[in-house]
Amino acid sequence: MSDSKYWNKTVETMPRKQLRELQYKKLKSQVRHCYDNSPFYQRKFKAAGITPASIKSLDDLSKIPFTVKTDLRDNYPTGLVAVDSAEVVEIHASSGTTGNPIIGAYTKSDMEAWQEIMARSIYTAGGRREDVIHIAYGYGLFTGGLGFHYGAQKVGAEIVPASSGMTQRQIKLMKDLGVTILCCTPSFAVYLAETMNTIGVNPRKDLKLRLGLFGAEPWSERTRQRVNEALGIDAFDVYGLTELCGPGVSMECPEHNGMHIWEDHFIVETIDPETGEVLPEGEEGELVFTPLSKMGMPILRYRTRDISVIETDMCPCMRTHSRMMRVSGRSDDMLIIRGVNVFPSQIEYVIMGFPELATQYEIHVDRPDALDTFAVKVELNEEYSKSSCVNLNDLKRRILSKINNITGLNPEIHILKYGELARTEGKAKHVFDNRKGKT
Ligand code: ADP
Ligand code: ZN
Repeated sequence: MSDSKYWNKTVETMPRKQLRELQYKKLKSQVRHCYDNSPFYQRKFKAAGITPASIKSLDDLSKIPFTVKTDLRDNYPTGLVAVDSAEVVEIHASSGTTGNPIIGAYTKSDMEAWQEIMARSIYTAGGRREDVIHIAYGYGLFTGGLGFHYGAQKVGAEIVPASSGMTQRQIKLMKDLGVTILCCTPSFAVYLAETMNTIGVNPRKDLKLRLGLFGAEPWSERTRQRVNEALGIDAFDVYGLTELCGPGVSMECPEHNGMHIWEDHFIVETIDPETGEVLPEGEEGELVFTPLSKMGMPILRYRTRDISVIETDMCPCMRTHSRMMRVSGRSDDMLIIRGVNVFPSQIEYVIMGFPELATQYEIHVDRPDALDTFAVKVELNEEYSKSSCVNLNDLKRRILSKINNITGLNPEIHILKYGELARTEGKAKHVFDNRKGKT
């Protein structure tokens, strides 16, 4: 197995027709499982006037109503669990900060399926049993830490379960233990790189790092270039959410042309977030997933609110599983500023194009009077912060003009010194919208 580029060649390169047949077979048994064992879905099916017999092909998926985040919150904690409580072996929860958390309940077979797709994901990026994998996603209820842990364990690699916190000690461990793969949020990867620079650790000389597996939040192509450059690695994007299992729903291959969705375990659809209408392949919209192997908490047509595009043309890696392009944002992250739609990722893209700037940024929106105010705070990078020859006014003007080109808006630009904005060890907070409740 170890010289193949595939973890499971038969599945990963399965002809699409066969893959769709497999999906249909698994969909039928998921629908049956929901119908027989989930009071939540019994109610939903009844309201929609459908039974398992209504699903006669994959196209009939659209007869099933969507499941949304509030369904999970309203049925907290176990309203969607479809097995006897003794079958549940593990619980996770999303990092959401308001209201009831979203819970994931896993049976033994759910854990096995998750471990399998995480191992496949790590292997797809090039992780092998010879690697030393440093996991700096948080361990605990968050699916990031343990998800990567289970996968790396199955690959047979040496695991450093660093979790979050104590950044300098993490760098010491990476150096002393010869860590080759770093798994964490892209924001933490950036922070690690900055800290290494500050404390005089040269990743190219002092570390053996070769790969980064970064996910759990949106990040741009330019951030990838910067992290690759700063750490001397090849960084991969990995995607997932608690509601579906956690990380491992999709993973980039070495072609870096989108994340292969493991379609033997998930059906993906793209919809118009406003109307709910299913969009043709290749159009940007909200991703809707139907997991096919979930027993503990089966979920049908889950609206993720994540915006992306799906491509199904053959990837040069020969994996047949379709690819989702970078998530441009969540539909609920989208800011409407003076009537204009703005995704934080658009601002990030601009900022990462300026070598004079560090990677940290904040977007502040407020409505002191009738009009929205919009400000972007950025930092000079460490070198420029120390130098007196930066023309701040000119830099400001150039940043503003780039943001204006993309959004048509003219935010106030604040250029701060390196290190003045707060850093994070988990998912970064970039948006501060203080308009809530102000009209
Ligand atoms: P929470 O909703 O509390 O953040 P999760 O921890 O389950 O819950 O996070 C899942 C969400 O994180 C996804 O729905 C998506 O918005 C985001 N996410 C995960 N991986 C990526 C990625 N690679 N790129 C962009 N966004 C991602
Ligand atoms: Zn590929």
